[in-house]
Amino acid sequence: MLPDSIRTELAAIAGKEWFLDRPEDLLAYSYDATPLHQALPDGVVLPESTGQVQAILRLASREGIKVIPRGSGTNLAAGTVPVEGGLVLALTRMNRVLEVDAENLTATVQPGAITAPFQAQVEALGLFYPPDPGSIQVSTLGGNVAMCAGGLRGLKYGVTKDYVLGLEAVLPSGEVLRTGGKVMKDVAGYDLTKLLVGSEGTLAAITEILLKLVPKPETKRTILALFPDLADAARAVSAIIAARIIPATLEFLDQGTARVVEEYAHAGLPTDVEAVLLIEQDGAPAAVDHDIERIAALCREARASDVRVAATPEEAAGLMTARRTALAALARLRPTTILEDASVPRSRLAEMVQAIGAIARKHGLRICTFGHAGDGNLHPTCLTDARDTEEIGRVEEAFAEIFATAIELGGTITGEHGVGAAKAGYLEWRIGPTGIELMKRLKDAFDPQDILNPGKMFARTARKRVVVRW
Ligand SMILES: Cc1cc2nc3c(=O)[nH]c(=O)nc-3n(C[C@H](O)[C@H](O)[C@H](O)COP(=O)(O)OP(=O)(O)OC[C@H]3O[C@@H](n4cnc5c(N)ncnc54)[C@H](O)[C@@H]3O)c2cc1C
Repeated sequence: MLPDSIRTELAAIAGKEWFLDRPEDLLAYSYDATPLHQALPDGVVLPESTGQVQAILRLASREGIKVIPRGSGTNLAAGTVPVEGGLVLALTRMNRVLEVDAENLTATVQPGAITAPFQAQVEALGLFYPPDPGSIQVSTLGGNVAMCAGGLRGLKYGVTKDYVLGLEAVLPSGEVLRTGGKVMKDVAGYDLTKLLVGSEGTLAAITEILLKLVPKPETKRTILALFPDLADAARAVSAIIAARIIPATLEFLDQGTARVVEEYAHAGLPTDVEAVLLIEQDGAPAAVDHDIERIAALCREARASDVRVAATPEEAAGLMTARRTALAALARLRPTTILEDASVPRSRLAEMVQAIGAIARKHGLRICTFGHAGDGNLHPTCLTDARDTEEIGRVEEAFAEIFATAIELGGTITGEHGVGAAKAGYLEWRIGPTGIELMKRLKDAFDPQDILNPGKMFARTARKRVVVRW
C-alpha cells in the first residue's frame, strides 16, 4: 500500500474518484489477457490530461514508485501486470479523437481511444486506418502503438508502426517529448517515433498520437480455400505472392482450429481438411475481381479441394468473423487458453506448422494453430489448465521449443504480441547479448531509475536456449 501522503497527492492530481486502491480495484488491475501472470499493484490512477500524467510521473520519480502504463489490458505478453507492484497508469480516460485532417490524411488521437470506433469514424469520411488487431473492439490506440500491434491486414498494409507519424509522450522525469509531425518526409535526427512504437510502456507514457490515414478501398471480396494437405496450402500462399498479388488478408486455420471455430460460429467451415485459407482482397472493383479470379485459380492449381468465393458481403463478413472468433472458440474447451505468437519467413510456414504439431504430440498437449499466413505469423494456441502444474511445465517446454524452432527457421519469438514479462526470458535468443546490452542502455537513457514498467522486456535471468529434436 502507498503511504497516505502519496495517496492524497495522487487523488489531488487526478481527482479523488480517479485514484483507486480498494482491494477489488487492485485485483481488477492485477492481470491482463495473458494467462498465468498476475500481481497486485499498490494503486491505480486514471489521468485525464498530459499535465496530470506529467505530475504523476514527477511524483513517481521523486518517490521511486514504479509506474505501469495501461490501455485496455488486452495484451498477450503480461505487459501490464505489475510484477513489482507500483502504480497502474490507466490511460483509458484520455480517449478522444482530437482531429481528422482530410487534407493531410492524418488523425490526432489520445491514447485511450478504442481502435474499432476510431476506424469506423474515419471510414465514414472515406478514409482508412488499416491496422486491425483481433482485439479492435476493445484495445486502445495507445496500447496498439506501445505494442506495435499487427493484425489481419498486415501483409498488404503493414502494422501499427507504419501509420504512426508522431507522438507526444511523457518521460519518467515528467518532461514532455514531441516527435514527428504531419510532414511525410522528416529525417531530422534519430527516429524517436519509431523507437517509442513497440516500447511496451518501458520508455515513456504516450499521451497523444498522430496517425497516417489512407483512402478507403472501394470494395472488398473474400475467398475460402480448403486444402486436404497442409503443404499444398503453403504452396498456394507462395504462388499467390509469386504472382505479384498482395491480398489484404491471407489467414490460415489448421484443422483443429477450423473444427472448434465451426462448432462455435457455424460459419460453414469444413472440418475434414488439413488447412483452411481465408483470403480477402480490396481495392478498385475491376482490380479486385481480377485478383480474386487469379487467387482462386492459383488455389485450385495448388490442389485445393474446394474454393468458395463469398457471394455477398454478409457471407464474406461471416467467414471473417469465423477467423476473428478463433480465440473465443478455442477458449471454451479447457480452463486455460495460452495464445502464443511466433513468426517465420513465409516460405517456411508449412515446416513451422508441422513442427508445432510434432512438438505438441511429443509433450502430449493440444495445440491448435491459426494466424496470418501471408506474413508468416502464426498463433499456436495451447488448451490447458493452469491448476495442473505438471501439464503447465510441459506447456512451457513446448513453447520454448516452438520459439527455438521459429528462430532456427529464420523467424522470431514474437511477430506482434510483444515481449512483456511473458517472453522477456527469450528476448536474448532473438537479438543476442549485444542487442540486449544496447537496449538496456537505451532504457537507461529514458528511464535511469527504472520507474516505467519494470520486469518487462528484460529478464532477470535469460532462458537457456533449447535444442529442438522433433
Ligand atoms: C482476442 C485478442 C486478439 C488479439 N489480436 C491481436 C492481433 O491480431 N494482433 C496484435 O498485434 N495483437 C493482438 N492482440 C493483443 C493486444 O490486443 C494488442 O497488443 C493491443 O495492442 C493491446 O492494446 P491495449 O489497449 O489492450 O493495451 P494494454 O494491454 O493495456 O497494454 C499493452 C502494452 O502497452 C503499454 N501501454 C499501453 N498504453 C500505453 C501508453 N499510452 N503509453 C505507453 N505505454 C502504453 C502497456 O504498458 C503494455 O506494455 C489480441 C488480444 C486479444 C485478447
